[in-house]
Amino acid sequence: ERVHDADVAIRQTDSDAALARLSAVRKGYLNDRFISSLLPRAHLQPLRPPLINIGTYVRSEAIDRLVEQWLELSTAEGQLCQIVSLGAGSDTRFWRLMDGPRKEQIGAYFELDFPDVTLKKAMAIRNPKSGLSTILGHSELDLGGQALHSSRYHLLPCDLRNPPADIFPGLFKEYLSPALPTLLLFECVLVYMSPEASSNLIQWFVDFFSPSTRTPSPGTLGCTVYEMFGLEDAFGQVMMNNLRARNVSLPGAKPYSSLESLPTRFLRHGFTSAKALTLRNIKSDYIEPSELERISSLEMLDEVEELNLVLEHYAITWGVKTSVSAATMSPWI
Ligand code: SAM
Repeated sequence: ERVHDADVAIRQTDSDAALARLSAVRKGYLNDRFISSLLPRAHLQPLRPPLINIGTYVRSEAIDRLVEQWLELSTAEGQLCQIVSLGAGSDTRFWRLMDGPRKEQIGAYFELDFPDVTLKKAMAIRNPKSGLSTILGHSELDLGGQALHSSRYHLLPCDLRNPPADIFPGLFKEYLSPALPTLLLFECVLVYMSPEASSNLIQWFVDFFSPSTRTPSPGTLGCTVYEMFGLEDAFGQVMMNNLRARNVSLPGAKPYSSLESLPTRFLRHGFTSAKALTLRNIKSDYIEPSELERISSLEMLDEVEELNLVLEHYAITWGVKTSVSAATMSPWI
């Protein structure tokens, strides 16, 4: 199999995300007792600057709350839910959820990434010292160690840009139910794919959860995307150039130049409601003042202007596709 240099650079973005999370945890912004198990020599890893720690905190808090509210609303009648994390990298959300009060509501949790990434994650999970397998319970490796299955959690290798019709039925057929409410998470991943590839991927899920003879009452589909946008302005160009200098290409960045354009990603696939907020909006309007005070006391931040510019260039977009009470599914509308 041919390894593309550009893909190596894309896979490395996961180390950046994991390092940023570890740094935010060590500095007291976030709680996550699992992240250090997914990074080699975690205690020797460098801390990141305050600006990155704050960005990581706001992003993580916001997505945690969306997931939390989605679970609360869609399992109101005691129904199980599914979560599919695409380009999951070293995300620890599954373990954090299993450690919390909503554990019983997760019927199945899927993580998809490139084979190299899933192989490393599977090894970390199986490492008895990590504590990750204690929470997981019994698990089995598959596909030469690139896939891992347990009763609820499934780690699967794939290239999300390949026509999903070819790979997904095989990967998912035994585990993903078209009848359960399902939340898709795209945390910092669609920007690395062409708009066509992203669109095919989202449409595959839309079709899977559409009424058919097999499943006349499909589950509600929720979708959350976290990504950079508005990269045409001067600051956006600086961000793009930084990534390009590291050989990371961003074919998915172009079409979404404004905040208003972000929800169209879902609306044109028939989602019933969609909304986007920048991290700056979220920080100022949705994080409680007491929390803002707490995080501002953790370390000195000199670059307030720059922080705001960064937070303005990242957004969380979420959408819901359901036949009933769509509005109640979007907690921040
Ligand atoms: N979602 C995680 C988080 O937020 O911490 C990881 C984000 S990391 C910036 C992007 C991840 O997407 C990497 O793990 C990368 O390997 C994965 N990824 C990017 N393009 C992909 C593709 N075409 N197929 C599978 N995984 C991909």
